[in-house]
Amino acid sequence: MLFFFIMPSFPFFLLLSKSLPLQPLPPWAGEVRLLSVLFWQELLSSLLHLFDKCKPISARKSGALSSVTTPPRKICGQRVENAEEMSVLDLPELALECILGKLSPAGLSNMAAVCSSLRERCRSDHLWEKHMKEKWERVIGDAARRDWKLYLASREDSSAGIAGSDSSKKWVVSVLSRVWHISWLKSRIDGGSKTKNPLPDDSIMSWYQSLESGKFWFPAQVYNREHGHVGFMLSCYDAAVRYDCQTDTFHARYPPHGRRTTVVEEGVQWDRLRPPPVETPAHDLHISDCLDDLRPGDHIEIQWRRSKEFPYGWWYGVVGHLEPCDGNEHFCWCHLSDTVVLEFNQYTPGSRWRRASINPKDHREGGNETDGFFGGIRKLKSKDEISKWRQLWPADALE
Ligand SMILES: [Zn+2]
Repeated sequence: MLFFFIMPSFPFFLLLSKSLPLQPLPPWAGEVRLLSVLFWQELLSSLLHLFDKCKPISARKSGALSSVTTPPRKICGQRVENAEEMSVLDLPELALECILGKLSPAGLSNMAAVCSSLRERCRSDHLWEKHMKEKWERVIGDAARRDWKLYLASREDSSAGIAGSDSSKKWVVSVLSRVWHISWLKSRIDGGSKTKNPLPDDSIMSWYQSLESGKFWFPAQVYNREHGHVGFMLSCYDAAVRYDCQTDTFHARYPPHGRRTTVVEEGVQWDRLRPPPVETPAHDLHISDCLDDLRPGDHIEIQWRRSKEFPYGWWYGVVGHLEPCDGNEHFCWCHLSDTVVLEFNQYTPGSRWRRASINPKDHREGGNETDGFFGGIRKLKSKDEISKWRQLWPADALE
């Protein structure tokens, strides 16, 4: 009976009942506002106790799902044993929704395993949207979402064995190859191995769990790759990453770098990841849209690679003044020149890496085998992006 369910949560309802007269709003609006963490915990504890005793839906003849057996009691003067059972799904809709809305991702996952009705409820996208946003939004971008959909499509095809699967797979590879270098594509999904787990679906819960479990490698960029290797300081490189819930860090797999095979870095912290800010694949020249708009003092990222065999990384710098200009804004004509000076002040004065010049009219890749090749430029307009680079600034100037 509902009575036995309510008893452990009695203080919660007591407070509720005492408070309601003070609330001119509808009863449920008042309830929702009054739900304190303490009472939620108490209520959930009671619910979980109920679920421990839950029976499968197949054992029931109606939609009543989770239950407790009531003690013997008298109804209409007769002693009736086990005549009625309480269902948690008999709770008011809003109450149950509020409870589910307070559960953690792990709690929702556990609750979904209780019975088929709760499974349907607990898989609802609206319950998972906030969890998805809270945990993954800072590292998940459009590229990862697109890959997830391709991943689902490829799994569905391989599962169904449809006649057109070959052409579909070719299409998937074709699309992916525009984003990722073909040589390491085949290991993107499930680490190249087949899984025995059930197929994921297109729910946000499934998306969340695939990320959380580390089964899904997704595209992201990693600041200061390879544990801040001096050769990559103040750069950001494309990688396929997967989450490691044991360490709350990521594994990053970088595309082949010249003669170096694919490099895998473990223990990548959250604050060293970002979603790729542009769609440009790591081996392609980014078409800049800011070249005519660059002014001294602007913060930029520029594509740079050691040789044409390498993927590009994005390197942080600022637009500087030309040689004759002393930087006085009243006499500065640098923005009218055909040359733009880029400064990389993380390098010591005199370092050959500290300054570079580009022709903003020239969109082609520039540079040479000695100094490397630079490509497209992004002008940073977000204070967060600029401050991020400042946080990563090396303690000592680089040679
Ligand atoms: Zn100037």
